[in-house]
Amino acid sequence: MKIIMLGAPGAGKGTQAKMIAETYHIPHISTGDMFRMNIKNGTELGMEAKTYMDQGLLVPDELTVRIFLDRVAKEDCKDGYVLDGFPRNIPQAEVLEDALNKLGDQIDYAIDVEVPDENIIRRMSGRRACTSCGATYHIEHVPPKKEGICDDCGDALVLRDDDRPETVEKRLRVYQEQTQPLIEFYSKKGVLRSVDGTKDMQDVFKEIEEIIK
Ligand code: ADP
Ligand code: AMP
Repeated sequence: MKIIMLGAPGAGKGTQAKMIAETYHIPHISTGDMFRMNIKNGTELGMEAKTYMDQGLLVPDELTVRIFLDRVAKEDCKDGYVLDGFPRNIPQAEVLEDALNKLGDQIDYAIDVEVPDENIIRRMSGRRACTSCGATYHIEHVPPKKEGICDDCGDALVLRDDDRPETVEKRLRVYQEQTQPLIEFYSKKGVLRSVDGTKDMQDVFKEIEEIIK
């Protein structure tokens, strides 16, 4: 099963993608997580990506497509995956389509997690991420057991640099201009499904299960 998660930054794509990955035993592929891992490890790619991420901009396709294609070529992706944060514009969607066409394959579902902009700002300013394992919390909706500490690995939780209010607005604009056109792109292909992302995360997941079961 090959699934794409669509939706604004902070809509809950990562949260739902993790639940899908665990339930259906497929890898969760997040280009954002891959970039953050590269930044943490101080790689050249990470340093270059960071200059764009910190401004709320998309990392250039040349870099993004390369790390994406390397990842999906791995053995664990043979039976499917859930994509979170890729594709983020039409050229990336076309690269994905070409790669799948070569394998005689296609996307099963593009799931749009719909959340209005007002909620998005609250979601992103309350999001806290683990600096080590990438686990995500929310100060109101998904608080860690101990404030500021990751339940999974015990490391520090931080507000992502790109979740600061001044960057969030920019990211929303980039989403509207470059990523939202994917909704029509996948709608025309007949694979678009929408879920109400304002619900409790378990209820959002139930809607997703209804779609993919
Ligand atoms: P995305 O991957 O789309 O950027 P996340 O999955 O990281 O979004 O979610 C953004 C923030 O909102 C996180 O802090 C997360 O814990 C919280 N969150 C996710 N889904 C819900 C939900 N259904 N209700 C309330 N908060 C949520
Ligand atoms: P995310 O974790 O998905 O919210 O992504 C965080 C940031 O990483 C984005 O704001 C972009 O700067 C960058 N990024 C992640 N995925 C992509 C992508 N597919 N194309 C371009 N930039 C990306």
